[in-house]
Amino acid sequence: MTQKIKELQIELINSSPNTIKGMWFAARNCYEREGLKKLELTYTPEKAIDLLKNVYKLSHLSIFEQSFYQFNINGLSRSCLAQMTRHRIGWSYAVQSQHFQKHDDFSYKSLEQYYSDQQEMNYFQLMEDINKFYKDALAHGIPRYIAREVLPNSTSVNMIVSTNLRALDNFWKLRSGKENTPEIRKVSRKFYNLVIEKDKGLEEIIRYPC
Ligand SMILES: Cc1cc2nc3c(=O)[nH]c(=O)nc-3n(C[C@H](O)[C@H](O)[C@H](O)COP(=O)(O)OP(=O)(O)OC[C@H]3O[C@@H](n4cnc5c(N)ncnc54)[C@H](O)[C@@H]3O)c2cc1C
Repeated sequence: MTQKIKELQIELINSSPNTIKGMWFAARNCYEREGLKKLELTYTPEKAIDLLKNVYKLSHLSIFEQSFYQFNINGLSRSCLAQMTRHRIGWSYAVQSQHFQKHDDFSYKSLEQYYSDQQEMNYFQLMEDINKFYKDALAHGIPRYIAREVLPNSTSVNMIVSTNLRALDNFWKLRSGKENTPEIRKVSRKFYNLVIEKDKGLEEIIRYPC
């Protein structure tokens, strides 16, 4: 039996060149009569972080839309994809297509929990049976966009996701808690770790909810 389990992988592939400075410009601009050039002379990262902390406390959150992060996500389950795409405002998604791409020998996510070793083996067998069913359908002329209907919720997808800090903040508030599935909580935590690793000082402004 071939097991094609795929682990979740997320990387930050693109982002604003200087997120903190960009948001600081946006915030200062709200109260500044002079132009951008003069403003720039007064910039320091420390002052920017202090200002942005206040802006965040005041819920002047549109400032945090002035940022950009693009993630490459591999090995996400289709069920988690459905949860992710409920986040509509400030999010852009480009998802690997089951309609156009052939999904024979598809990879999938292992379940978070099994009640026995036998049940785990049964799960792998079930995936193998679905794979056979899918291949047989294609071999008999069923189009990919119809055969795909048999693919399980645990099928892995790859996708590119772009977003900003305001949308991420809302995502972290909603998706970090224990009431969520382990998979989307992993996505949430990984997004946070990648963002604060790239933009030093951001963790002082937006703290991870739990
Ligand atoms: C623990 C948990 C369980 C869930 N269970 C289910 C479930 O069983 N079934 C289900 O269907 N969904 C479920 N959801 C999804 C949930 O209802 C939201 O769709 C999802 O969390 C996206 O949140 P959001 O709307 O804040 O995000 P976004 O779509 O990104 O919206 C961001 C913000 O914009 C504003 N906004 C967006 N659209 C509107 C609008 N039309 N009108 C006014 N303001 C708007 C709101 O302030 C919103 O918070 C669940 C979510 C969680 C966290």
